[in-house]
Amino acid sequence: MIKKTLAQIEKMVNGSKLDPQFSEVIIEGVSIDTRTMSPGNLYVPIIGETFNGHKFVDSAIQNGAKAVLWADNEPNPPISIPVIYVEDTLLALQTLAKNYRDELSIKVVGITGSNGKTTTKDMVSSVLSTTLRVQKTEGNLNNHIGLPLTILRLKEDTEVAVLEMGMSARGEIEFLTRLARPDVAVITNIGESHMLDLGSREGIAEAKLEIVVGLAKDGVLIYHGDEPLLSNRVKNMDISTITFGETSQNNLFPTEVKQESERTSFSINIKEDKNFYIPVLGKHNVNNAMAAIAVARHFQLDWDDIENGLRQIKITNMRLELIEGRGGVKLINDAYNASPLSMKAAINLIHDLQSDGKKVVVLGDMLELGDMEMEYHEEIGRFIQPEKVDYVLTFGTLGEYIAKGAKENFDEDRVFAFQDKNMLIDKLMNLLYEGDILLVKGSRGMKLEEVIFAFKK
Ligand code: ATP
Ligand code: MG
Repeated sequence: MIKKTLAQIEKMVNGSKLDPQFSEVIIEGVSIDTRTMSPGNLYVPIIGETFNGHKFVDSAIQNGAKAVLWADNEPNPPISIPVIYVEDTLLALQTLAKNYRDELSIKVVGITGSNGKTTTKDMVSSVLSTTLRVQKTEGNLNNHIGLPLTILRLKEDTEVAVLEMGMSARGEIEFLTRLARPDVAVITNIGESHMLDLGSREGIAEAKLEIVVGLAKDGVLIYHGDEPLLSNRVKNMDISTITFGETSQNNLFPTEVKQESERTSFSINIKEDKNFYIPVLGKHNVNNAMAAIAVARHFQLDWDDIENGLRQIKITNMRLELIEGRGGVKLINDAYNASPLSMKAAINLIHDLQSDGKKVVVLGDMLELGDMEMEYHEEIGRFIQPEKVDYVLTFGTLGEYIAKGAKENFDEDRVFAFQDKNMLIDKLMNLLYEGDILLVKGSRGMKLEEVIFAFKK
């Protein structure tokens, strides 16, 4: 993590008015949250919509802050601790991260896309860690604050940083990529998330492709080649690329995929004699794994290391997480978030899973989809195959449209729409027996993990 004297920090953030007696004081690490701060940190008070970090400076000092940045126009700067003044604390945080990144001789992998960023980040890091010193974005810290914080945590001897880059509007990825300057850029796919802000899938594709703006001159773009919105645009760019996807038009494509009950196995065209296993569910994860393989080959890892790295993947929670539930029910917790693309990926998984028991899905609203939201939900309902799923339960007002779509193919007594989570859970209590599989998925705001908790051991 960053370790600098205050004189250096003042310079790096374009700050001013540091009392010269503190010039040689050394800070280690940066924190914007007094609750998670470690002694020796530089405290950077951020101003959000509902809070002002400057107001928490006393607790920052109590928790061991060694110095603070302070916005010029904020009253009552602390007197018991060194202060560096800046115009804007958020901009200072970002500038500090940019300057720190520029000092490091580290390789950066930047990962964006509509779905699968966190998963792919975890996979890339798991594979590269077999031979290189790797640090990755923790959890989902992928925005204009999380990315700078992640960069400031990088150690000097880290060889590769695997960074997730998220966005909800145009220009955001461009900002992040200029900051991180990736050597390898990955675009996992284009879906419909953030349709509300970007208007169309074309708009989303263009926003993701902003990642090439910061790509190193000798860098490589690895992307989902089955997405024409990407390939048509990339064709006209002067950059080296590697594509992955389901079809044989890609540089990497699967020659065989098997959905097993607790893992997924596959082989790929460029290494047909090897069988890869990933300890996660869902054939879409083969795409994420192929992206990770492409990154690993770029870093010249050998095939045995790649195979081992893939076997050891640990996915961040609530992404198709398989849990042994009470009474021998198998739970699949995908309640972290939902968009049409990831909904279909999860439903495909349920379609593919072999089971002696029943297969039940609980699907909640997909939020932030814009004007077409009702159609998207109905389409999800129609996507569920009645021969492969026993019961469809929906939750939320938009969920009703999933139920409506499902009823086009299902008998009415196998589809139930709920507005009340407890009633939904009661229904499941009567429905689920040993050996059954329950998939739960919805947007973050729907908090559908509460359904999982009701059936967890
Ligand atoms: P966020 O934008 O919230 O950070 P993310 O892009 O990081 O999301 P993940 O957290 O990895 O994505 O996964 C989110 C959801 O997308 C999960 O439900 C997961 O199962 C699904 N998913 C992951 N990879 C893919 C993929 N390649 N195609 C479709 N769905 C996917
Ligand atoms: Mg994520």
